[in-house]
Amino acid sequence: MDFRLTDEQEAFSASVRAFAREHIEPGVVERDRAGEWDADVWKQVAGFGMAGLPVPEAYGGSGADVLTTGLALESLAYGGRDAGLMLSLGAHLTIGCMPIALHGTEEQKQRWLPQMAAGESIGAFAITEPEAGSDTAGMKTRGDREGDTYVLNGTKTFITNGGLADVVTVVARTEADAPAGMAFSAFLVEKGTPGFTVSKELKKLGNRTSPTVELSLQDVEVHESQMLGDPGTALWKIGFECFDWERCVMIASAVGGMERDLEESVRYAKEREAFGKPIAKFGAIQHKVAQMRIRLEIAKLLQRQAAWMKDNGIEHQVEAAMAKAYVGEAGVDSALDAIQLHGGWGYIDEFHVERSLRDAKLASIGGGTTEIQEMIIARSLLG
Ligand SMILES: Cc1cc2nc3c(=O)[nH]c(=O)nc-3n(C[C@H](O)[C@H](O)[C@H](O)COP(=O)(O)OP(=O)(O)OC[C@H]3O[C@@H](n4cnc5c(N)ncnc54)[C@H](O)[C@@H]3O)c2cc1C
Repeated sequence: MDFRLTDEQEAFSASVRAFAREHIEPGVVERDRAGEWDADVWKQVAGFGMAGLPVPEAYGGSGADVLTTGLALESLAYGGRDAGLMLSLGAHLTIGCMPIALHGTEEQKQRWLPQMAAGESIGAFAITEPEAGSDTAGMKTRGDREGDTYVLNGTKTFITNGGLADVVTVVARTEADAPAGMAFSAFLVEKGTPGFTVSKELKKLGNRTSPTVELSLQDVEVHESQMLGDPGTALWKIGFECFDWERCVMIASAVGGMERDLEESVRYAKEREAFGKPIAKFGAIQHKVAQMRIRLEIAKLLQRQAAWMKDNGIEHQVEAAMAKAYVGEAGVDSALDAIQLHGGWGYIDEFHVERSLRDAKLASIGGGTTEIQEMIIARSLLG
């Protein structure tokens, strides 16, 4: 069993890390303070070929496998330290592009994927509602059929890229009498469709360079050709795939952030002196970096295992849940250690690690909370 990356994968990761240090990291503190999405940085990331990584080559993407897509996110996060940008990019790739690539008609793929892969159009996925997050079956948004159109009404919240997106996959109940699992359908709703608006911009603890909004749908008319996948399949097919991509791939950004924080913490521990010697000489500091290293190794292995299993068509629901649950909690623990090791400077935003703590917390909530992952794992054991 060989857990190492191939030479080609190592070289790819190194080039992405170098790109991110040069083009993403500069100005990240200021962007975070301002809570600003930066279209220029996005254009550079897209120009570097990152906006269509897993999209098939036939539709303008790179056709990258799951492992490589994760490696790119890990490397961008390591080099760029901009978790918000990674959230937006990750959402664009995994729950923006992939549902269309996997479930779209030929016409839908031709219409959206080439421009999304080029980064000229941004994607989003809207399932969560103010009163239904983990309990997706509790969604109230309706899609009522009228001839060859559906009329959508409802509210979606916490939507990453929601205000930026040129196309949002919106999930709505279309089958009034069907059991919840078969009652929801997905629609590709275009920006500017009458009645489809941003009703609230949400301010966040972290990931502030990524816009998160509430979306309102008031008598939004979509043609039946805008339905993504078959009627009634939005939860068990499309939603399931989206969560799977989030759990296997998006968490790689958090892993990249953990690695960079460890590296910076080691550097700081060797440079910072107290009581006449580098703080690296103190056992308490050594304990922290050792624990950070162990967490990083486990996080990396769990994420790559889940990605590899997904690539190879091996059932991996429990492995993906373990990876998501672990990364969500370990990322916060390691960010806290990094802050403590930096002392007072750890609490000041110039040193990045305070942002890491604010950013890391999201991985235990978005894309399915830690408690939901634990439920999946426990069910596999207890039935
Ligand atoms: C920054 C950000 C970006 C997001 N981006 C998107 C997006 O692009 N698209 C989208 O559709 N959604 C998005 N989300 C929504 C996210 O997926 C949900 O917030 C998440 O699934 C949790 O749902 P909730 O917030 O309704 O919490 P709730 O489901 O209300 O959960 C509240 C608490 O109860 C716990 N809980 C709930 N049910 C159980 C249970 N059965 N057993 C044990 N504990 C339970 C939860 O773990 C949590 O601790 C985003 C969220 C955030 C914060």
